[in-house]
Amino acid sequence: MKAGIHPDYQQTTIRCICGAVYPTGSTKKDIRVEVCAKCHPFFTGKQKMVDTGGRVSRFNKKFGLGK
Ligand SMILES: [Zn+2]
Repeated sequence: MKAGIHPDYQQTTIRCICGAVYPTGSTKKDIRVEVCAKCHPFFTGKQKMVDTGGRVSRFNKKFGLGK
């Protein structure tokens, strides 16, 4: 590589909001992501429960669940 014509490539970390940190190399500093391989539902097998407008709790009440 010629010096001076490339952007600064440096060691940096990708931080996920779940707390996972991935060391990597990038021209950017402190990359932040909202989901990563550790916390994405596809990889964890868990579904994040998003209760829009209490629809889930109403359903649970109706069928006597979620007490
Ligand atoms: Zn994550």
